[in-house]
Amino acid sequence: MTLSVLRTVASLRDRVQIWRRAGERVAVVPTMGALHQGHLSLVEAAKTRAKRVIVTLFVNPKQFNNASDLAAYPRTEEDDTAKLTPLDVDVLFAPGVEEMYGSGFSTTVSVGGVSEGLCGAHRPGHFDGVATVVTKLLLQSGADLACFGEKDFQQLLVVRRLVADLNIPTEILGCPTIREADRLALSSRNARLTPEQRRIAPAIARTLFESAKRLASGEDATSTLDAARATLATAGFDRVEYVELRDAETLQPLAHVCGHARLLAAAWLGEIRLIDNVPVLPRNS
Ligand code: AMP
Repeated sequence: MTLSVLRTVASLRDRVQIWRRAGERVAVVPTMGALHQGHLSLVEAAKTRAKRVIVTLFVNPKQFNNASDLAAYPRTEEDDTAKLTPLDVDVLFAPGVEEMYGSGFSTTVSVGGVSEGLCGAHRPGHFDGVATVVTKLLLQSGADLACFGEKDFQQLLVVRRLVADLNIPTEILGCPTIREADRLALSSRNARLTPEQRRIAPAIARTLFESAKRLASGEDATSTLDAARATLATAGFDRVEYVELRDAETLQPLAHVCGHARLLAAAWLGEIRLIDNVPVLPRNS
């Protein structure tokens, strides 16, 4: 089967309508391209749950709070198409900015609660941009299922919230983070790391896993988080934005590990901001 590259909402809707008439289940995997095995794992999860799979490729200007980050974001559509072809994806939906945000565009979807704090506090407007584009992509595709990575844990919760609040009839599937052999979470931004930065980068995952183990064994949260921040600075991160213990459903700060807890971090290597997160399982679970 050949992969169709569609660039207009009308052509996407026409295609989905044909599938719907045939009673076929449709999944969508939203991405900003520069595809790696993390994205492809979402596609594989989608394939096992729906007959038809749409991958979207749109570098969404509204979710970048930093113009140079947007300018430097990798754009590799030809390679992305080549990676999707063997996976039996039906459609690559790759609209231009004009198609997504035509003249007069004035609507913002803004999610409260889980959007606040963590990346929301450090990247003003970021989650409004994410929520707006994800709402559009879900409505444009009319998908039954949408797959998102736990790598962007706060984003996953923002999407779950908006779908519930706006009664969008799309099931949201969270998929595990895919990592390199040294446990660095795969990210399109990793391609921009210098060899020296790439050597330092896995410290973020290493520190999170180690700290999660300490927290699970009953060590004090404040001192464990302080030690984690210090470890990242010593490892060579230029700036540690946050290392936080949060409730995995509400993202409220936790003073102790209880129920579902998540440890989340963001840190900078030069101009590159890396994020990661891991579950913290209480001792008796
Ligand atoms: P992005 O292209 O960075 O916007 O990511 C598109 C989707 O891929 C989002 O749902 C991300 O959470 C997911 N994703 C990115 N990196 C990974 C990874 N290493 N493992 C699993 N999913 C990922």
